Amino acid sequence: MLHNEVQDLKGSIRVYCRIRPFMPGQMGMQSIVEYVGENGELIVVDRTKQGKEGPRSFKFNKVYGPTTTQVDVYSDTRPLIRSVLDGYNVCIFAYGQTGSGKTYTMIGPDGASEEDWGVNYRALNDLFQISQKRGGIYTYEITIQMKSNLSIKDEILGFLDSQTLGILTASQPNGLAVPDASIQPVQSTSDVLDLMELGLKNRAKSATSMNARSSRSHSILTIHARGTDVKTGSVLRGSLHLVDLAGSERIDRSEATGDALKEAQHINKSLSALGDVISSLSQKSAHIPYRNSKLTQVLQSSLGGHAKTLMFIQLNPDLTSFSESLSTLKFAERVS
Ligand code: ADP
Ligand code: MG
Repeated sequence: MLHNEVQDLKGSIRVYCRIRPFMPGQMGMQSIVEYVGENGELIVVDRTKQGKEGPRSFKFNKVYGPTTTQVDVYSDTRPLIRSVLDGYNVCIFAYGQTGSGKTYTMIGPDGASEEDWGVNYRALNDLFQISQKRGGIYTYEITIQMKSNLSIKDEILGFLDSQTLGILTASQPNGLAVPDASIQPVQSTSDVLDLMELGLKNRAKSATSMNARSSRSHSILTIHARGTDVKTGSVLRGSLHLVDLAGSERIDRSEATGDALKEAQHINKSLSALGDVISSLSQKSAHIPYRNSKLTQVLQSSLGGHAKTLMFIQLNPDLTSFSESLSTLKFAERVS
């Protein structure tokens, strides 16, 4: 058991699949989920076409059924978070169609109580607590960058425009500078909570437009941890990228036109570029196609090498989402 866990953590790419529960208005709907095993097995079935398309089975590092709590999910994520303070670069993504629970997993529901906190609050809390505990050995400086609601319209991920991107400087050793992200030094967990609350407030303020927006943009929370050995003065640096990806749904060409269509094509392109990078990493290819999207360029130093990657793939269990869920599962199969 312990051996397996260690093995699991040594692998640089892991995939956790999470199935969200039906929402109150969805009671009595048919689920695509046939079986969730304890060891990451998942069987889905399209009940409308049973016989035509039989049950499909998948295997991931973990599969979480609809009753899994935020605490359960975090307990499997925590070892990765800890490794940031040991100098690792870690990337955690949430992938899935709009409404499948990406934001719920990464942040939590709107107005979340502590119990509902998603990965990012818990991660930050942990990083602070552990860094405080290690205070006699290392002094840590933790920096947080929040960049949500990226403007895809002004050129995909406009904030990463080629004029301002592409510089790896000594002061930004862990990644490319993201010029207009607000960078705030933080000293305590409550600083972090204030910061996150602000983010959430802004999100709530324009909930409707933000919702529409967020399904069409990637949102990245980046944490840099710099630890100085108290005795020797040597420095280690780790980073954590928490990425709530744009919705992966296919856009019907007949419905989207002009800018909306362009935007949809950009999103699909960046998500498939991300899939290409992760799958070539998992196949240990000699060439990793980071250059094919801005998203993979900005995350390059945290994908591959000694970096650790976790992909949450999110499923809406509703039968009408079967084909989107199947394409999410196929994406995950390709990267795992
Ligand atoms: P996405 O970010 O993928 O578009 P959301 O995270 O906004 O999806 O989830 C859609 C809705 O489902 C929200 O109302 C959210 O609170 C709810 N939800 C998602 N996952 C869960 C879960 N595991 N438990 C309870 N509610 C959830
Ligand atoms: Mg969302």
